[in-house]
Amino acid sequence: MGFSTTAIHAGNEPDPATGAVSVPIYQTSTYAQEGLGKHKGYEYARTQNPTRTALEKNIAALEGARFGFAFASGMSAIDASLKLVKGGDHVILGDNTYGGTFRLFNRILKDYSVEFDLADTSDLANLEKFFKPNTKLVFVETPTNPVMTVTDLAAVSEMAHARGAKVICDNTFMSPYFQRPIEHGVDIVVHSTTKYLNGHSDSIGGFVALNNEEDAEWIRFVQNSVGAVLSPMDSFLVLRGTKTLAVRMEAHDKNGRQVAAFLQEHPKVEKVYYPGLASHPQHELAKRQQSGFGGMVSFETGSLENAKKVLESVKLCTLGESLGGVESLISHPATMTHAAVPDETRAKLGITDGLVRISVGIEDVEDILEDLDQALK
Ligand SMILES: *Cc1c(COP(=O)(O)O)cnc(C)c1O
Repeated sequence: MGFSTTAIHAGNEPDPATGAVSVPIYQTSTYAQEGLGKHKGYEYARTQNPTRTALEKNIAALEGARFGFAFASGMSAIDASLKLVKGGDHVILGDNTYGGTFRLFNRILKDYSVEFDLADTSDLANLEKFFKPNTKLVFVETPTNPVMTVTDLAAVSEMAHARGAKVICDNTFMSPYFQRPIEHGVDIVVHSTTKYLNGHSDSIGGFVALNNEEDAEWIRFVQNSVGAVLSPMDSFLVLRGTKTLAVRMEAHDKNGRQVAAFLQEHPKVEKVYYPGLASHPQHELAKRQQSGFGGMVSFETGSLENAKKVLESVKLCTLGESLGGVESLISHPATMTHAAVPDETRAKLGITDGLVRISVGIEDVEDILEDLDQALK
């Protein structure tokens, strides 16, 4: 089955009770049992909910995974996936992951004796040096936010597996439409469904997809024990979102390429970060690993004053955090999404005061370009 067919049909069987074509929002906390130990597979809604089950089947299928679990946020999904490590284990964490992922390691997991090192996972020779006998996990994000560094998932998976470690990939930026990490050897995929999978900026959610049965049983156990489950309403929204994932991602990609090309030629722009540009240092790898480049574009305006002028002059693009919705959002990583990153690390990663990030939406591209042009002027 093709991707769009899977997106529309996986998990979306007509409702057995009524034939409803759209999976109902099963807004219930519990289920009537016919007798002691006799029930229809549903006992209590933290443990199982049919709307959530439909979504779990749907996104697992899109990622090419046997198992999938939906969580209340991207962060709770990431937290659940990290419960595969125990105190005393060592994790290699990409040095430019989502800020919340870094915070989880740096402020919480470290007090549970989980050791971690930050590494540039795009540099394989560098990455290799970080493995220790107790390294259990490599956590990768590709492309990274906001400077769009691409990591070779197949090479990192091979390196980690040879050393007895597993690989988790945060696939939020590409979505399974453009990148399916499991096909490249990655063990576990995590998502913030808040972004492209839901796609309409009206729900917070997260997802874990994987193939290994033993690990899946543990994630299921964590999901039920900790209880950070996605609500029936949010499950419904994300399930509705994924039906149009293919068409939305195509539109984000088309607009993203045009915005990147426009910015690259613009006299007020010093540098553009977009893996779809031939000038991107890992353009070839991105072409091989991804089937598109998506809608995330960052650019250097040269100074905080310039960035501020652009961010406060846009009319169509909305100034705000988050990404992946149908509407274009513009943000200032240094003071918004990456404010918690130490100055020195930010400088090393290229997250300057003049850097601006756009989540290119699916409006008419002429309107987006016109808005950016007037703001830059
Ligand atoms: C937003 C985001 C997260 C966190 O997801 P929430 O749904 O906000 O908890 C994790 N990783 C990436 C790449 C993100 O963009």
